[in-house]
Amino acid sequence: MARFGLAVDIEKCTGCYSCFLACKDEYVGNDYLPISAAQPPSGHKWIRINEVEHGTGTKVKVDYVPIMCQHCEDAPCILPDNRGAVYRRDDGIVIIDPEKAKGRREIVDACPYRVIFWNQETNLPQKCTLCAPRLDAGEKDVRCAEACPTQALVFGDLDDPASRVSQMLKAKAGKVESFKPEFGAKPVTKYIGLPKPFIAGEVLLSDKQSECLRGAKVTLQVKEEKGTVVTETDCFGDFEFKGLARDTDYMLRVEYEGYLAKELTVRTNASQNVGEIVLTDK
Ligand code: SF4
Repeated sequence: MARFGLAVDIEKCTGCYSCFLACKDEYVGNDYLPISAAQPPSGHKWIRINEVEHGTGTKVKVDYVPIMCQHCEDAPCILPDNRGAVYRRDDGIVIIDPEKAKGRREIVDACPYRVIFWNQETNLPQKCTLCAPRLDAGEKDVRCAEACPTQALVFGDLDDPASRVSQMLKAKAGKVESFKPEFGAKPVTKYIGLPKPFIAGEVLLSDKQSECLRGAKVTLQVKEEKGTVVTETDCFGDFEFKGLARDTDYMLRVEYEGYLAKELTVRTNASQNVGEIVLTDK
C-alpha cells in the first residue's frame, strides 16, 4: 500500500495560483461521492497561497506558501466524538465523509491549519482530498501538482524511494520541514525553504560612492560561535544571506582591500536590511 504525500518547495513557488485554479476546475460543481461532495463556486480555498512579505526599503521579498490539508497523522479534525465523520485511509489521505459529516460545523474549527471550509448550501465541512477520487481511478498525480509550472508541488508515494516526491525530499534533506509542527498534528505534507529571516545590504567605498562595488567580502557569524558563511557583493554592490535562524545575534564583517573593515551586530527578529555600509580608505 502506497503512503501518499505532497512536498512543497517554497523556493520554486511563484504565487501563480495555477494550483488553486486546478483544484477549482476539479471540484467546483463536481461530486465524487462517497469521497467528496462538490466544492461551491466561491468561498472555499482548499489550497490557499499565503504571501509572506519580509525586509524593508529596497530589500523586500515575498515568499509564497501554498497551504492545504496536511493529511496529519494525528489529525485534530478527527474529534473524540467523531462518529466516522473524518477518517484516515490506509494510504494516509484524510477524508471528510460527505454523509457522516453533515451538519458537523465543529469539524471546521478543529483544524489548526484552517483548511476546512463550511458549505452553507449542503451543510458540510469540506477540504482537500489529495485527489483521492482521481487516485482511486488510477491517476498518478494530483491536480495541483500536475498544474504547477515550476514543480514547486510534487506528489507521490512517500514509501517508494524511486518516487519523485521521495527523490525530491532526499535531494533537499537538510531543508525539509513541517509547517507549524507546534500544532502537534504530525503533518504528512513536507515543506522546503519555509520563510526565514535574511540579512541584506549594500557596500560602498567612501571615495567612490557613485560606483557599485563588486567583490567586497562579507562574512556572517553567529555571535560568540565558531563557523562563518562568506559571500561577496554582486555587480550592484549588494549582498544577502538567506535562510537564517530567527531571533539570533549575528556578527557581520565587511572587508575590501585598501579599506578599513567594518563590523556590525544584526539581530534577526525579522529580515534585516542593514542599508549602505560605507568603507573608508586606510
Ligand atoms: Fe485535519 Fe487540518 Fe490536519 Fe487536514 S490539516 S488532516 S483538516 S487537522
